[in-house]
Amino acid sequence: MTAAPGTADELRTGSPSAGPGEDDWAAAVAAVRGLPADARVLLICHVNPDGDALGSMLGFGLGLRRLGVHRLQATFPGPPEVPEPFRWLPGLDLLVPADEAYPDPDLVVCFDAASESRLGDLVDRLDTAGTSIVLDHHASNTGFGAVHLVDPTAAATSVVAEQLLSRLDVPLDAEIATGLYVALTTDTGSFRFAATTPEVHRLAARLLATGLHPGDISREVFDTRPFGAVRLFGEVLGRARLEPEAAAGHGLVWTDATLDDLARHDQQPYVLESLIDSVRCTAEADVACVLKQVGPVEWAVSMRSKGAVDVSAVAVALGGGGHRFAAGFTGSGDAEQVIARIRVELAGALTGGPAHADGCRSSRTR
Ligand code: 5GP
Ligand code: MN
Repeated sequence: MTAAPGTADELRTGSPSAGPGEDDWAAAVAAVRGLPADARVLLICHVNPDGDALGSMLGFGLGLRRLGVHRLQATFPGPPEVPEPFRWLPGLDLLVPADEAYPDPDLVVCFDAASESRLGDLVDRLDTAGTSIVLDHHASNTGFGAVHLVDPTAAATSVVAEQLLSRLDVPLDAEIATGLYVALTTDTGSFRFAATTPEVHRLAARLLATGLHPGDISREVFDTRPFGAVRLFGEVLGRARLEPEAAAGHGLVWTDATLDDLARHDQQPYVLESLIDSVRCTAEADVACVLKQVGPVEWAVSMRSKGAVDVSAVAVALGGGGHRFAAGFTGSGDAEQVIARIRVELAGALTGGPAHADGCRSSRTR
């Protein structure tokens, strides 16, 4: 998503909308090349990691390993479980639980986190580390960390990661490329979303040329879920609600999935990550929301827009962040209270652009 200078995104966050400059790239390369031989490097991606967070981090981590960095850890805040669809990724051996991460690494590299809050308890490493590099593509990135490789025009954080590897003269191999490809396909919705530029396809071509297996990857990441999750989706989709008058008449479709729903179908929370894709297809609504219960009165909210509404404005107003057409936040109360707050914010969050007529065309990036 490109935010032109002076857009609401930029004004709200103060973060630059242009990508990294040559100075930023040079600083990042120097930070890596200047590491002593026994340096400890800690890679951190955002809480509840998705394909971009994990794929960028592990792909880049394998690249650092090829460079000879051997005291190398990758981690993310919260429970150390990797979501099932990613449990085969090359480089999983780099992962350590957050409470085992180097307390004072020489270098920290952050992936796909728009703000420090997305780093949870690991945020202190930004202070204890020798230096830090932030790789991201959220326009709402707050500019934390020492070296900023933040490109809001990049379709995925892995686009930035591949550029840095290239500047470090690390050749792509199939293992590195697999992580970067998972990240790219996740955030472009398998090359369907508006961020799918010619450059995205050129990167995909470079990654595929290493010999990775796109069919196997897509099946693992997108097309495999437990039967219990299929039944759970049926139930949760069956109670979706359509509110044509919401969002100033552009329409809202939403549903909620409770901890009880998960327990009844014996499912883990990660299975709900793709639920939004089944909801946002609704032709009659510009905005789709899924409320995923994460505690007695706490909900992780996913929002998508087809173009008429800037859902990142809604998310930021409610304490979260994201992109114009894909955003989220954590809300408290019961589901009705959370959706009531969303309705209020939606009324004022129009982009001014026309809504897209084609129902399932999404401009979502993560
Ligand atoms: P998803 O709905 O796929 O979890 O997230 C969509 C987008 O919103 C992603 O860019 C993600 O980083 C962002 N996002 C989701 N939840 C939160 C949140 O609680 N805080 C912030 N800052 N961003 C979020
Ligand atoms: Mn991303």
